[in-house]
Amino acid sequence: MGNLDRRPGKIVCVGRNYAGHARELGNEIPAEPLLFLKPPSAVIENGGAIVLPPESEQVEHEAEIAVVIGQRARDVSEEDALSYVAGYAPLNDVTARDLQKRDVQFTRAKGYDTFCPIGRMVPADGVDWRTLEICCRVNGERRQYGRASDMVFGIPALIAYISRIMTLEPGDVIATGTPEGVGPLREGDEVEVELQGMTTVRNRVVRARRDTDEERAQARPSGAEA
Ligand code: MG
Repeated sequence: MGNLDRRPGKIVCVGRNYAGHARELGNEIPAEPLLFLKPPSAVIENGGAIVLPPESEQVEHEAEIAVVIGQRARDVSEEDALSYVAGYAPLNDVTARDLQKRDVQFTRAKGYDTFCPIGRMVPADGVDWRTLEICCRVNGERRQYGRASDMVFGIPALIAYISRIMTLEPGDVIATGTPEGVGPLREGDEVEVELQGMTTVRNRVVRARRDTDEERAQARPSGAEA
């Protein structure tokens, strides 16, 4: 992976971790962190294209602060949690909102290939997580802005909580939730998620072109029929 040292083994995502965003989707603030996973196969880097799937009419950006784990963490305390962090990166938790509402699980809505742009990691040394800020621009216009200090559950609390459920391994990523202002991505858009003043992941949006059965049959090498 060009932007990270290695491809994450897992991407643990936190839902509704900013009060403003929970409100804009009509959700309550959860009493404990709401977790889901994105598959590592969704990761693209700076400059890669986000591909809109034909099944969705409503693909949206979600700018998030990503925590990159540096050391194996299992059942760690909040006090020790930051010593397991390698660094921070900008992440776009791209979501097919209509499919998210239709399905009970988030797997399909959040799991398409290209739905997890991650930018270059900034090493954690000397960075106070509470000062991190995240923003999203679409075609140069600001759509989202949030401060880590406004998270419902802060980064040490998230690491401790997740590590009590699953072992966090080097290279794993925690997507810490998105602030309010999520909105649509359309073909031809350029979307940027910036860890403010540090690093940006910039991606253009394209529409999937899926072959018809007939085209697939024609492309099949002769003699390959099942
Ligand atoms: Mg999200």
